[in-house]
Amino acid sequence: MELCFQRIRSTSRFDKAQHRLCQLPKGHNGNHDEFPYLRHLQKTNPTVAAKIKRDATMTTGAAWKSDDAGPNRILRWMMILSDEELLRYGVNMAALSEQVVAKLREKAANYDACMRVARKLAWFAYQMPRAPIPPEPIQTYLENFYGPINSHSAYCLVCRQPLEFNLFANARRGKADVETAHSNPRIHDDNNVGFAHRACNIAQGAKTLPEFYAWIRDILNRVDASHSS
Ligand SMILES: [Zn+2]
Ligand SMILES: [Zn+2]
Repeated sequence: MELCFQRIRSTSRFDKAQHRLCQLPKGHNGNHDEFPYLRHLQKTNPTVAAKIKRDATMTTGAAWKSDDAGPNRILRWMMILSDEELLRYGVNMAALSEQVVAKLREKAANYDACMRVARKLAWFAYQMPRAPIPPEPIQTYLENFYGPINSHSAYCLVCRQPLEFNLFANARRGKADVETAHSNPRIHDDNNVGFAHRACNIAQGAKTLPEFYAWIRDILNRVDASHSS
């Protein structure tokens, strides 16, 4: 599907670094829209829609203060820019600790990748048992990218147990029982993201999934060996 990609004007002071682009199909009617597929969730489950947008586009976990990003968060695509360029947008990386800088830089992702991640997460959310049914245009849009939305086919990216939509119920900042997870925590793109139980995501930590499973396997092997000796 070809998308419109017309520029959407925003009031963000970071707008000059990266224009916001319309994600509706090319030649669409009506207003341009950056997150058209979130319009329905914004009505039925606004905290879920906000979480998808936030997790897809913002960094997490740094002691960050800026009017635009809010505390602890900044747009992931700003973290691609050099320290020098960032200064021009009022972001002073030199004022932050090395550890915080490393954490923020690790969350860097370009705008297109962030848009793909948001789309994939929306598709994923609609697969969950007890999720609302998407309106036909949104379903068609998402299925065009990622295939049929089958209810009851959403699994935790880490432990492979089913994930129910109502796990989002506590979707206040960082407090939901379901979190956005990455197979490789250093790559933020649609082929590498999913949802996971909060506990599973925390357990995985900075490891890739293969590293994490190998780590668990080694532990279990040692535990088994110590029992049998
Ligand atoms: Zn448009
Ligand atoms: Zn899990």
